[in-house]
Amino acid sequence: MAEPKGVTVFYDERVLNHSPDVNAAFLPGRLDKRVRNILSGLNVQWKYPEHPGRIRAIIDLLEREPVDGVRFGQGKAASREQLARVHTTSYLDYVFSLRNKNAWLDVDTTAVSPGSIEAAEVAAGTAVAAVEAVVSGTTRSAFALVRPPGHHAEPVRARGFCLFNNVAVAAAHAQAELGCQRVLIVDWDAHHGNGTQDIFWADPDVLFFDIHRSAPFYPGSGGLHEVGAGLGEGTTVNVPIPGGSGDLAYLKALNEILVPAAEYFKPDIILVSAGFDAHWFDLALNVSYDGFAAMTEVVQALADRVCDGRLAFVLEGGYNTESLAHGVRSVLSVLAGGSAAQPRICGMEEVDEAIAFHLSAFTDDPPGS
Ligand SMILES: [Zn+2]
Repeated sequence: MAEPKGVTVFYDERVLNHSPDVNAAFLPGRLDKRVRNILSGLNVQWKYPEHPGRIRAIIDLLEREPVDGVRFGQGKAASREQLARVHTTSYLDYVFSLRNKNAWLDVDTTAVSPGSIEAAEVAAGTAVAAVEAVVSGTTRSAFALVRPPGHHAEPVRARGFCLFNNVAVAAAHAQAELGCQRVLIVDWDAHHGNGTQDIFWADPDVLFFDIHRSAPFYPGSGGLHEVGAGLGEGTTVNVPIPGGSGDLAYLKALNEILVPAAEYFKPDIILVSAGFDAHWFDLALNVSYDGFAAMTEVVQALADRVCDGRLAFVLEGGYNTESLAHGVRSVLSVLAGGSAAQPRICGMEEVDEAIAFHLSAFTDDPPGS
């Protein structure tokens, strides 16, 4: 087992410079008028949910309520060569041509502001920095606090707030430069990581495990029978679950599918696409802070058993800033050596207490007897 050396949060404030303007013009031919009509027909002003305040909320909480054993490390920008391991040349040319502009890339909720392209390079590079630190042993585990998120970004396309696929760039870097042959990616974001699945669909050396709210929930992919193809058949593992599923469903899937799959696959490193939109405040699923902590405990114990503890987290979604910040803090507390409370079905203990409190009132002699 790796000697405990704490957990390092990798961060670079340039990720805050991605701040899309919802009123920016669509690129030519991108259904501008139609989408604008739809949006103007809604009664509420649509705001871009993936905003810099997400990261600020996490940093603020970690400053207000620091976690013992957590230290900060400096992020960095990814090189074009690192990005090109998972994105095509034409896609990179296209994205880089948008540097310093305001634009919608896609009707599928992805826009850029003048600082966005650099923020996206830094998000991917900071995930790389986290993986480098874990492999070199300067930290026991790492958490890349980045945005824009990455797991919806495909080799040729930005989607769902994502420009570059940060976790995929980090995984490919671990393989190409850091001597890791096999990489396990665990994606517990509420949404399916369609981009990561696409990138490693036929790759037998990347095991992609994804638990998410099932279609038609966005992005609609991630069915049980999507298992990879060619040499990679069997190294894509999807666990679609219905809206409202919570801690116990997540933990059962991790313990009874992920753990045996990983023990069979024997990865050299484990990366986690850590989204916190599975928390109930984001209204899609029903995971609690104790749930995130317990999930971290499972993955950390797994990493200790199969890959010398090498474990790096990369932030994905989570749009309620309160549950996002507290969710990240729950994960860091466990990575730093804290223990997780056993998640329970919400309300059961309280109902048991209430039973004990009230029951005697109705089991003594009935009134009027
Ligand atoms: Zn998500």
